[in-house]
Amino acid sequence: MKRFALAGNPNCGKTTLFNSLTGSTAHVGNWPGVTVDKRDGVYKKLDEPVAIVDLPGIYSLSPYTPEEVIARNYILDEKPDCVINIVDATNLERNLYLSTQIMEIDVPMVIALNMMDAVEKAGDKIDEKELEKRLGVPVVKISALKETGLKELMERAFTESKKSRAGVTVLNDTALAHLIGDVKIALKGQNVENPLFHAIKLVENDSIEVEMHKETENMIDEFKKTFKDDVFGDDFEALIADRRYKYIAKNFDSVVSRKNKEKHAMTKSDKADRVLTHRIWGIPIFLLVLFGIFHLTFSEDLLFLGKIFSFPGLEDLGVDIEAFGGQLLACFYDGAVFSPGVIVNNLWNNIIVNYGLGFGEGGWLYNLIAESGMQSWAIGLINDGILAGLGSVLSFLPPILVLFLFFSILEDSGYMARIAFILDRAFRKFGLSGRAFMPMIMGFGCSVPAMINTRTLADEKERTATIRVIPFFSCGAKLPILTAIAGAIIAYFGVGNADLITYSMYLLGVVTAILTVLLMRNTTLKGETPPFIMELPAYHLPQFKNLMAHLWDKTKHFIKKAFTIILASTIVIWLLTHFSFSWQFLEEEEVNQSILAQLSMFVQPIFTPLGFGSQLGQFGWVFVVAAVAGLIAKENVIATFATLAACLVAVAHLDIGTLDIAAEEGVDAVQAMILATNITIPALISFIAFNMTTIPCFAAVGTAKAELQGGKRYGGTLIFWLATSYIVSCMVFTVGSWWWTAFIWAAAIAVVVTAIVVKNKKQNKAKA
Ligand code: GDP
Ligand code: MG
Repeated sequence: MKRFALAGNPNCGKTTLFNSLTGSTAHVGNWPGVTVDKRDGVYKKLDEPVAIVDLPGIYSLSPYTPEEVIARNYILDEKPDCVINIVDATNLERNLYLSTQIMEIDVPMVIALNMMDAVEKAGDKIDEKELEKRLGVPVVKISALKETGLKELMERAFTESKKSRAGVTVLNDTALAHLIGDVKIALKGQNVENPLFHAIKLVENDSIEVEMHKETENMIDEFKKTFKDDVFGDDFEALIADRRYKYIAKNFDSVVSRKNKEKHAMTKSDKADRVLTHRIWGIPIFLLVLFGIFHLTFSEDLLFLGKIFSFPGLEDLGVDIEAFGGQLLACFYDGAVFSPGVIVNNLWNNIIVNYGLGFGEGGWLYNLIAESGMQSWAIGLINDGILAGLGSVLSFLPPILVLFLFFSILEDSGYMARIAFILDRAFRKFGLSGRAFMPMIMGFGCSVPAMINTRTLADEKERTATIRVIPFFSCGAKLPILTAIAGAIIAYFGVGNADLITYSMYLLGVVTAILTVLLMRNTTLKGETPPFIMELPAYHLPQFKNLMAHLWDKTKHFIKKAFTIILASTIVIWLLTHFSFSWQFLEEEEVNQSILAQLSMFVQPIFTPLGFGSQLGQFGWVFVVAAVAGLIAKENVIATFATLAACLVAVAHLDIGTLDIAAEEGVDAVQAMILATNITIPALISFIAFNMTTIPCFAAVGTAKAELQGGKRYGGTLIFWLATSYIVSCMVFTVGSWWWTAFIWAAAIAVVVTAIVVKNKKQNKAKA
């Protein structure tokens, strides 16, 4: 099968094209560096199927970054049958810089002028025939997004792949061409493949290249002596870059005719950036945007209208909320209009999970099992174990998707890239660069791809520090813990707002991440902070197609996880809480004799300083169990509560009133926990904080291990997670319970910070 490789600058639309060609749903993001590894797919619309490889985005073939090494080695060593060089037509000159380098390799090549839809919308024109003539390689206009020109592109690429092409260079001013020509002949004599490309890289003094062709070093130095340039002296790298750009400017300026001649006119994006990336307002605006997202996802009082106007509740209006119509209405409004996130959530839980799937108490499936005449332990396992656990996890699909949708909108519009830029400006002097923030922000979705994305960080210590704090950017799976406990705090104690609590907890995670990463960068993981060069992509309206692809991916992943790893864990937890060490089946009242309860009671005291240890008495172990179950998958925390609530109610003889512990969203289950243990609000918040900052799920730990190359960094990482979660939760609990302990913490932190600053100063002096 023929193989075509997609190569181009970051953010030029490679992945979009890859998805359009192969029908995959790889992650498309409006910021550079989303694709760090290469990816394979198949294009089937030609006479024979063709393999398509999506390479990471690169600006040049001189390897400064891991991406550049991957892309360059792929083209040179794996020899694709054709390189499709994607060029962002809205940014032609800069993109052609890479093209001039790919042209130097002996490989068939086609240039895809992407984003033609945007070019045409701006009223600009590009003469692709002229471009083709001047470059000497085929040029095809396409729009990866609108899927135009793709067939033609693939046909041209296919035709090209049958021919062979010798590399050509635009570096043709006499002296330089002479020098390159001499080196090329020498390399050819040694039977080196791609002699032109290697010759130029050798002249450039490219480090990898010089290493590879050590024997030619002397010869090239001899050649170079014959060459003089007034401006660049013997800095051949700068010289060659300069000549490339000059050539591009001279020859390709005329192929573009711009409607808006004024090149330097401020675009809409620039104007937006004047506000959004403002030196002072940038961060407050980001915090506000973030709050807006949580408000739209979790608030039961949209825009606080209910507080302002005090609308009547449904019961005051005489609506029968037992009837179907009333229930439906109650999904949207009850004394206040709900936010879109809450509405979707209510509809999903009342209509789908209860009626459709019948998981909840009284649901058709639940009743079917209850009346099936099976043995009572089997009914218990299915209804209270599996259905309660699964139902509670599935009930969180809407908030996860809604939140994720908002994050996708921020990403696709180009705003997230600005956040990395703003944060870089704020934290660079403390040893943290914007490049590290990009994977961190990705962590809001899922830690696993975020950790893989850290490969874009060249400095190994910065990378380790980044991988460690990524889990603190609360991922979708941790959301259930937050919403269920926040919901219970509001319902039981009557304090707080769902949007405010969730928002603050996310911020707590972010702040913990920034503080700990700074701590490491100034103590155990000191190192250079490489410059952060990122071009900010233009703002554009998020693409519906991209958003839906993201959501669909997330949904698939979530459902798959629910029915495999979470299902298995709920069964194990149910079994361990219904059997004793002597493997006897226990009634719900005897849950404290179960294997899990006994084990957990043993470690319970460890959690006392965090507020959910021994002080919770004989039922406090449920929190320990939940936290441990969360190590497998964070959704398990709430699934565990749902599974255990029934036992607790039975054994503690709780009068739970109207609570429906089998109800989804875990809110009532958590309330039952509160009733049974008398846990306080600070301890509940501390429990959330613990789960947010402790060892992440199995999958993330595995990824961290692989990305950290094992060794001592991995052990250190596990200890780091445990220590951070312990300290942060202890702080939350103690300050929440006794406000004056804040002074003790502040003093302790001040001592640590001063010690570090003093020590580093001394070290710097010693060095100087
Ligand atoms: P990559 O970094 O090269 O893989 O680029 P992506 O495929 O992730 O795309 C970067 C951004 O450009 C995304 O926001 C895309 O929606 C957008 N994009 C890609 N192709 C086109 C196109 O043909 N037209 C327009 N207007 N936008 C596009
Ligand atoms: Mg990509």
